[in-house]
Amino acid sequence: MFQRITLLSAFLLTCCLHAATTGKAIKFGKLWDGHQVIAHAVVIVDGDQIKSVTANGPIPAGMETIDLSEYTGIPGMIDMHTHITYYWNGDTSIDARRQKPRREAITVVLSQRNGMKALEAGVTTLRDLNAAGGADFDLRDLINMGAFVGPRLFVSGRGLHGLPKIPTMDEKIAEQIKATKETIAAGADWVKIFGSTGGFDNVTGDQTVSYEEMKAVVDEAHAEGHKVAIHSYGPAGARDAIRAGCDTLEHATDMDDATIAELVRKKIWYVPTIDHNEYYVENAETTYKFPAGAKENLEDYIHRNFITAQKAYKAGARMLVGSDAVYNGFGLNMRELTWFMKMGMTNEQAMQTATVNAAEALGMENKLGSVAPGYFADMVAVEGDPMTDIQVVLKNVRWVMKGGAVVSDKTKGFPTHTN
Ligand SMILES: [Zn+2]
Repeated sequence: MFQRITLLSAFLLTCCLHAATTGKAIKFGKLWDGHQVIAHAVVIVDGDQIKSVTANGPIPAGMETIDLSEYTGIPGMIDMHTHITYYWNGDTSIDARRQKPRREAITVVLSQRNGMKALEAGVTTLRDLNAAGGADFDLRDLINMGAFVGPRLFVSGRGLHGLPKIPTMDEKIAEQIKATKETIAAGADWVKIFGSTGGFDNVTGDQTVSYEEMKAVVDEAHAEGHKVAIHSYGPAGARDAIRAGCDTLEHATDMDDATIAELVRKKIWYVPTIDHNEYYVENAETTYKFPAGAKENLEDYIHRNFITAQKAYKAGARMLVGSDAVYNGFGLNMRELTWFMKMGMTNEQAMQTATVNAAEALGMENKLGSVAPGYFADMVAVEGDPMTDIQVVLKNVRWVMKGGAVVSDKTKGFPTHTN
């Protein structure tokens, strides 16, 4: 009997010691956990996971405590459309798109800087849609190994394109299925299809991949347990992407009511990426050296993009934040929320497009997007209240934890990380 009690005590002691050495208690003035606001929240973190969330909860004796009671806690945010391997050092003497090609290892290292900017903006997860040479696979894996600090990445490798040189539909379909299998085998989490023209100052939206090809890619990816994102700047590609059963629809301007009704009925996630064209307008001369007239075309596209997205939102479409960040767009990831507010979302609805809903689209609804027991300890402290002022999420991110590790701390007036 004595021996059993001793063993039990030893076991309990080990547990407590373990908790005391690896656990962390985080105190927030308020916490929006993804669904509700908890005043005086205490979040206990063990390793990379959240163990408990309580109001005024007790903190085990000796546990490291991070006092963020001046701030509001929110879940680590998720940006559903980025291009992390598009790196630019800010040298305005050249167009960012015409930088000298880099070897892949260099791209991987430089991409991490984009990732750090996103992290410091409170974005702890990115879905990255199009990268050359496997740089996105390598960056994701290095981050997951702990060799690099960066956001969690869900990546697509190189996106699939139309095949204008292949003569018959049967051959096109066979080629698209082959490309899908190769992309997944190489390490893609998602499959991306460029279903139309359009990008940067090109705002045309001509369909480039047929319904039959889209359907073949979606069916192959789904059979292998992977999801598909389809880029379409215009309405025809969007209609066929929805018919083909894509999981997320990107950009998609000028959709008619019937197309929007199908988007809603099929519960396909819509990532309108409105703000990225605003970013292009702001940087038309400096970063991009766009030709005359580009700004006007972009402004026109932004207007149509917003009107379409607003119509879809009012019709009940499920929407997600995608910044489409490239080059120096990292760090501005959550500006899309401003557009979502403008179309009539409440603060909480807007916040959910970058947290719980995005997590669901990723199939990670039990691990990401909420501050709750069993979830990854991805949390952000902002100064102010995002439930009354969405701008605090864009401008006042002060502290970021990813997987239980503090990756950015500006609470003391100086950042822990500099590039
Ligand atoms: Zn994009």
